[in-house]
Amino acid sequence: MRKAMVAGNWKMNGSLVSNELLVNTILKGADKLLTDSVDVVLCPPNVYLSQICELLKNSSVMCGVQNISLHQSDGAHTGEVNARMMKEFGTKYVIVGHSERRANQFESDADVLSKIKHALQYQMIPIFCVGETLDQRESGRIEVVISDQVLSVLDGLTEKEASEIVVAYEPVWAIGTGLTASPDQAQEVHRYIRSLFSSRYGQELAEKVRILYGGSVNAANASDLFKMKDIDGGLVGGASLKADEFLGICRSST
Ligand code: 13P
Repeated sequence: MRKAMVAGNWKMNGSLVSNELLVNTILKGADKLLTDSVDVVLCPPNVYLSQICELLKNSSVMCGVQNISLHQSDGAHTGEVNARMMKEFGTKYVIVGHSERRANQFESDADVLSKIKHALQYQMIPIFCVGETLDQRESGRIEVVISDQVLSVLDGLTEKEASEIVVAYEPVWAIGTGLTASPDQAQEVHRYIRSLFSSRYGQELAEKVRILYGGSVNAANASDLFKMKDIDGGLVGGASLKADEFLGICRSST
């Protein structure tokens, strides 16, 4: 049985004052009963890591980051932050391969694989994002795009490493647009992603991998999505900045 997970990707949002209010309100709602059945993760901008990890210290809500450097070793990499540094704060998860980074920072599948390996070396769990654009969907290329993205990573991982990652299916056309994949559309791709794990590593491993859905998830649409067999929770952008919405999404996954 896979434990549900809801991760909030704050993207480039927040302030010292608003973060404190947001986290404290989430903590009031995210009691042990909730976090026993769903892993709740907050991924703030790096600059707030210390603040957020401190606020979460005695809670069962976990902290993640939105990116790590491609450079694993400390050194002359101006502006970069590596997995070792993130880990010092108690960070447990890292989002890797988000479509915004693939598009805006030109991250390749090879970069994504390297980052996943760095994260695992520091016992951080990568949330590995994949997803097709609207053009790719409309031209019938969903499976080609998804299998390229997934297999380019799986081909470089050991079986143990593959068993440790979380996948997030985030159709690019659904991110920040208010357009959500329907539960059936999302389930179809989730099932396909699981089948890729199964064909590489067998059914038993594939059944253990958590696959989150991301793209305009909110408290109103989450429960229909999370009811689907292969959808194990959500990676949430905009709605993770509102405590009530985010808690509603977390509750929908139980
Ligand atoms: P939205 O929930 O704002 O569509 O963002 C999804 C996302 O990109 C999460 O990583």
